[in-house]
This record gives sequence, structure tokens and C-alpha cells, in this order.
Amino acid sequence: MEQKIKAYNNILELVGNTPLVRLNKITKGFTGNFFAKIEAFNPGHSSKDRIAMHIIEEAERKGILTPGSTIIETTSGNTGFSIAMVSIIKGYSCVLAVSSKSSRDKIDMLRSMGATVYVCPAHVSADDPRSYYEVAKRLHQETKGSIYINQYFNELNMDAHYASTGPEIWEQTGGQITHLVACSGTGGTISGTSRYLKEQNPNIKIIGVDAYGSVLKKYHETREFDRKEIYPYRIEGLGKNLIPAATDFDIIDEFIKVTDSESAHTAREIARTEGIFAGYTSGAVMQALKQLNEAGTFKSTDNVVVIFPDHGSRYMSKVYSDKWMEDQGFFDTETVAEAQKIQY
Ligand code: PMP
Repeated sequence: MEQKIKAYNNILELVGNTPLVRLNKITKGFTGNFFAKIEAFNPGHSSKDRIAMHIIEEAERKGILTPGSTIIETTSGNTGFSIAMVSIIKGYSCVLAVSSKSSRDKIDMLRSMGATVYVCPAHVSADDPRSYYEVAKRLHQETKGSIYINQYFNELNMDAHYASTGPEIWEQTGGQITHLVACSGTGGTISGTSRYLKEQNPNIKIIGVDAYGSVLKKYHETREFDRKEIYPYRIEGLGKNLIPAATDFDIIDEFIKVTDSESAHTAREIARTEGIFAGYTSGAVMQALKQLNEAGTFKSTDNVVVIFPDHGSRYMSKVYSDKWMEDQGFFDTETVAEAQKIQY
């Protein structure tokens, strides 16, 4: 009988192949052409679906994972959600060790996706047996046939983007891309995507986005780990206080830093101008684009691709809350007065 039902077999078939969308209004007056790859179109609403799928399927190919095995990671963020989603469909247990700093919402969301969540004290050092790193390591050692994703130190993180994000961008731009601007956290996205793109055309410029308070930019420039660069900041998923093995620093041409406040305002601006409801780091990457444009980086014929890593819905109580913005001191008094005039 002719197959008439046009359905995916399960949610995982929707991972990857995210759209590339031209930015129109927020880039008004900029020199060049600008396109955003919107990773929120992944079923788990972020680019981390790609690494969860890739790392888990590699472990299956190697015979490490068998039905009922356990997958362990230390994150309350996007990677945790993606691993939980893949685990449900493939029949694994997902165990996440998270910091007690993680919001109640995030922990509830992960538990809703079937994960077992261990909440570990935030204010202990990484080598304390109670820290989420140590708890994850111990659970991995104690659980036979388990895998520990360890995204900051797992080369397969980069491979996932080499195999999917890179080829997609090359194909979607018909090979006309001149610049890639992307956030660097674990560095998997920027490193893997760039490796593929530079193999196609070594002249493509790769610009990494880093946070003030993170060591990545300084390390890229000096190859020295400078503790003085480290201080608390608000943007989640961007920058780091250690040097991730999942980052290929040689492939990145330049790093640019952005502030918490400007990135938050720019995330809100993306929603208002382009109708794209994106996460905090999308605001960061867009803020970097503004700074690069201001510095005269681009020619009118350049085709610049930025990656928007996740969806705005994960930041309702942060960037998209006026109260939170005000509490951070991100509104000047004039903006607050203006915001208060809005009647609902
Ligand atoms: N944005 C968000 C919201 C993230 O969760 C991450 C991952 N830490 C990134 C950007 C950075 O991506 P990557 O880890 O691949 O460098």
C-alpha cells in the first residue's frame, strides 16, 4: 500500500538542519549581509541536541552503551535537556549532577524529561567530593556500562559540529560565507563548524565571542592561563574559567568580548526587531556583531553568519524579566521610567 503518512518516526529525527535566516532590521545601516542560524529549531531548542545525539550514537557504535545503560553529565543547562531527550527515545537512564545555583525551573524541567537530578552544593571547590564534578565522576565509576559526556573535555563535542553544523552552513550559503561569528563556551560549536568551513575555504574568518570575566580571549592571544581575567558574570553558556579541551584555539582568528548588560539588551532587541525569540548568548553574539560592524570589519559584499544557540523561553525569569534586568542594574533610570509607562 502506498505510504501516505508523512510523519517523523520520533522526535530525534528533527535534530539538526536548522534554518538560516537573513537579519533585516537589527542590522540596518550595517555594511554586509547577515544571516542567523537558529539553533532553537532543534527539538530540544538548542545546538546541544547535536552533541547529545552524536556522542551517544558514537558510544552505541563502539558498543559501550547497551539498552538500559546510564548517561551521566554535569549540567543543568541545554546539554542536560538534550541528553535527557535522547535518553528517553533510546531507552537509557539520564543522570545529571547539577549545582545548587541552578534555578528550580531548570531542575523541574530536567526531571520532567525523565532525568535523575542530583543537586550538589555550589560553594565547594571542584575537587571536593560533594562537587557536581566529583559526584558525576563517582557515579560514572560506580555504574557499570555508563558514559560520562564531559562536554568541556570531549573531542566528540567538536566532531558533532564538524559533521553537521559546518556542512549545513556551507550548503545554506552556497559556499559564499565570508565570516562566522559564534559564541565559545565549551568551544565545540565554533571549533567543529570552523574546521569544516576552513577545509572548504581557508579564507573564511572565524570570530569567537567571549564574556568579560572569562579567560578564553586572553588565552587565545597569549596561550597563558591568566587567573586575573576571571570574575563573576551573568551570561550563561559563554566563556569559561578554565581552558576547555573541546576548543581548537588555532582555528579561531579573533575573540571579541561582550558585556552582560549590552548582551541582555541586544537579546531583547532581536525579539523586537526580527521577531526571533532567542536566548541570552544570541544577544551576546549579536552584540559582538554590532561591535565588529562599528570597527569596520566587514565589506558590503561579505556574507556573515552568526549562530543563535538557543531559545528565549529558557530566560523568562532573567533577560526577559524587567524585574531581573532592573535588579542587575541593566536599566538606567530613564529606561525604567519608559518601561513603567507601558500599560498592559
Ligand atoms: N550558548 C548557550 C546558551 C550554551 O548553552 C552554550 C554551551 N555552553 C553556548 C552558547 C556555547 O556553545 P559551545 O559550548 O559549543 O561553545
